[in-house]
Amino acid sequence: MKVTIFGTGYVGLVQGAVLADVGHEVVCLDIDQNKVDRLSRGEVPIYEPGLEEILKSSLLNGNIRFTSDYGLATAHGDVLFIAVGTPPDENGSADLKYVLDVASSIGQEIDGYKVVVNKSTVPVGTADKVRQRIGDIISQRSGKTASFDVISNPEFLKEGSAVNDCLRPDRIIIGTDSERAEDVMRELYAPFNRNHEKIIVMDTRSAELTKYAANCILATKISFINEIANLADALGADVEKVRNGIGSDPRIGYEFIYPGVGYGGSCFPKDVQALIKTAEDIGFDTKVLKAVEERNNLQKTVLFDKISSHFSGDLKGKVFAFWGLSFKPNTDDMREAPSRVLMKALWDAGAVVKAYDPEAMQETRRIYAESTVLELCASKELALEGADALVILTEWKNFRAPNFELIKKKLRTPLIFDGRNIYDPGSMLREGFVYHSIGRPSIF
Ligand code: NAD
Repeated sequence: MKVTIFGTGYVGLVQGAVLADVGHEVVCLDIDQNKVDRLSRGEVPIYEPGLEEILKSSLLNGNIRFTSDYGLATAHGDVLFIAVGTPPDENGSADLKYVLDVASSIGQEIDGYKVVVNKSTVPVGTADKVRQRIGDIISQRSGKTASFDVISNPEFLKEGSAVNDCLRPDRIIIGTDSERAEDVMRELYAPFNRNHEKIIVMDTRSAELTKYAANCILATKISFINEIANLADALGADVEKVRNGIGSDPRIGYEFIYPGVGYGGSCFPKDVQALIKTAEDIGFDTKVLKAVEERNNLQKTVLFDKISSHFSGDLKGKVFAFWGLSFKPNTDDMREAPSRVLMKALWDAGAVVKAYDPEAMQETRRIYAESTVLELCASKELALEGADALVILTEWKNFRAPNFELIKKKLRTPLIFDGRNIYDPGSMLREGFVYHSIGRPSIF
């Protein structure tokens, strides 16, 4: 089938590459000409395991093309995916500017029948707005005739395993009441629906809400365990033992109950905020979601409080080695990363950060220029040189079993603040570290 994808970020690019990989003819459009040029040469601007390989092979066999030409892109696809960003606006609502810009452009160019798919995470009612916008633009122009359906098909991929998630989705939600559009989408997704039936068809509004509900319940689990971790700290209990104790109950499970320094990324923070705002707009008070967000904002300051209290508030001139900058492992995404909140707090207190991340160095350099307070190091060992403490912000695999002797040798003092609980307190004691983690008694 012929498919067009508007927006080549994490979602659009991965979705485009995966659809091309199974044989669909894909055109991806982005307004960022530099990105279009790089992608056309097979250069992948983001880090996502497996993406470069499938992209390059589809470029070679001609199944994928990149463009910034709306006429060409709209004419190409029978299915037109909108996969642009929906960042929060100043009051926390999802900003639909980019989605509606695409809708306007589609309205100007559309000809014949198309299925327009909202793949971006958008508030309930957005399919109606997109339909309205396209219809308004069509009615203003003369000549070509066009018909279309607008449907919701939210994306559930996880950064870091996005290719695999798209190739093997848990579920495919299709929000539409148009049989014609449903048939088109079933044909499109048939290659991903072989093992068992994954397609769930529902009305558009329920599909839009399903995406928010999914992210919000995951964020709720994280904020819940972080609250228990802080309580464990105050009560002298060990949250990791509690985690094991509750995770063994299949109704609870072990997933998404890792205590830490709060959730970040481009989805959970903005989607929780956006659902709170959607509810507020109709006079509904979301008590649980507000608490989830508040706990998360507080959680991003917990490690700073531990650091500050260890140094009795005197952080001027202290040097901290950061291992991990991205908001989670296997991605270079720094959006809303807890590392950014801690870096800023340390800088405000007069401290210096020496940082290393396996994939997010380029992105960090793009956001913060290197300066007297930020040194970006080429290896995790270099970050340790002359630092007063090691701080773990992201649980990358290659931080899990380091050479502790070497860490001790390179640090000024054997001191670790572990925001992800990746080390065992007993081993830290044997290795002779002072060790602070989340929701577990500190080791002195
Ligand atoms: P992103 O910011 O990485 O990419 C958005 C892309 O859209 C950019 O390349 C930008 O240049 C392009 N763009 C902006 N305006 C455009 C226009 N008018 N025409 C064409 N291209 C345009 O965003 P993302 O992370 O891919 O997220 C996209 C959507 O998918 C968001 O709504 C997000 O909430 C949702 N989502 C994201 C994830 C994730 O893990 N990142 C997962 C599921 C859903």
